[in-house]
Amino acid sequence: MNVYELAIKRLEEIGKKGGFSSKEIAILKESKKILDRPLQINGKKYPAYRVQHNDARGPTKGGIRYHPDVTLDEVKALALWMTLKCAVVGIPFGGAKGGVTVNVKELNQKEIEEISRAYVQAMHEDLGPCKDIPAPDVYTNSQIMAWMLDEYEKIKGKHCPGMITGKPIELGGSKGRNFATAMGGAYVLRELLKKKKINPAQIKVAVQGFGNAGSFIAKILNDSDYKIVAVSDSKGGIYDADGLDVKGVIAYKKEKGTVVGFQGTKISNEQLLEIDCEVLVPAALENQISEKNADKIKAKIILELANGPVTPEGDKVLESKGITVLPDVLANAGGVTVSYFEWVQNNTGYYWEEEEVLNKLDRIMIKAFEEIDKLVEDKKLSYRDAAYVLAIKRVLDAEKLRGRI
Ligand code: NAD
Repeated sequence: MNVYELAIKRLEEIGKKGGFSSKEIAILKESKKILDRPLQINGKKYPAYRVQHNDARGPTKGGIRYHPDVTLDEVKALALWMTLKCAVVGIPFGGAKGGVTVNVKELNQKEIEEISRAYVQAMHEDLGPCKDIPAPDVYTNSQIMAWMLDEYEKIKGKHCPGMITGKPIELGGSKGRNFATAMGGAYVLRELLKKKKINPAQIKVAVQGFGNAGSFIAKILNDSDYKIVAVSDSKGGIYDADGLDVKGVIAYKKEKGTVVGFQGTKISNEQLLEIDCEVLVPAALENQISEKNADKIKAKIILELANGPVTPEGDKVLESKGITVLPDVLANAGGVTVSYFEWVQNNTGYYWEEEEVLNKLDRIMIKAFEEIDKLVEDKKLSYRDAAYVLAIKRVLDAEKLRGRI
């Protein structure tokens, strides 16, 4: 099964557990609009997609991914998860996602700029602050958002900073957005540990993926007394049972383009998942933990900063082992929440200090955690099941209020 088929399987399974009818779940299985518009640049063709999944709760929102493995089905799965995620944290957006099938590591900055501008030229009629608002995802960043904003504003002939988030601060970005995904995850983990009465100083953490989400979570947790024992990127990982020098790893990765070679023992990405630790943070790509390796995982808690890192069958094995999974739609929702703050600031023209952003983010993450935790306790559900049940209900309520069902 590919990632979209797995996403639908999970939606159906949890929908059933939550008591939703198959007619209701069918609404969430549909994507409202699919744009499949290959980009032609210098004689080369790059498949490019934008999927707007569901807009019942507001304009659709979701990042754009540049990766050689991007497919329409992957983008569809990511868009569905965005709908659920926005509903989990109660922000007024539906879900969308975009992607270009491209290996940015083979391109120079000029070529990446051309692709980014071409993407907006192909999709601009369906984007906008009240329609569909992109953001960064894997191998896209604030510079790419800046080019996309500039291209959009050129086409429309007016300023429109709220059409995209994750922008540089100078162009209307929000303070705190660059580390918001990791910070939101850290808040959720803190709430779970408080509930379990565990002190962070007793916790060893392994992080898979060392980009935006992974490097910031390593830094934030390390600054809060957790011990980071392993990290990895696409080239492999490093392990030190006594704890890694996280600031040093960040500086090394900046210089060399990888964490490999900095400190400790070299490990593979597969080995990282099976390391002796209390908290495992997948922060790279989908389908990393399945029925094939879930049994070998030693962590007690999995904090899903990546989208879809555990397959539905993997979930079953983890559950049988008593491992708590803080699901993607909750754990990595800090990114879209601060994107929402960025959009609010753009729409009002009044900008907030970082402290205000983080306080507001903390409140939203605590509220979402508590609402889900209550369902976990009352209905004896896993955190993933509870988050889905909450989100599905919110989306269906909005559909009903609009008279669509
Ligand atoms: P990024 O491009 O900044 O970093 C990706 C990292 O993953 C890089 O370090 C890369 O080397 C590593 N990687 C790639 N393939 C790998 C592999 N096979 N094994 C191990 N590492 C690998 O991307 P990001 O924004 O940090 O996104 C990472 C995950 O977090 C994705 O699933 C993304 O959808 C999710 N996410 C990101 C945000 C955000 O705001 N950036 C928000 C929510 C969720």
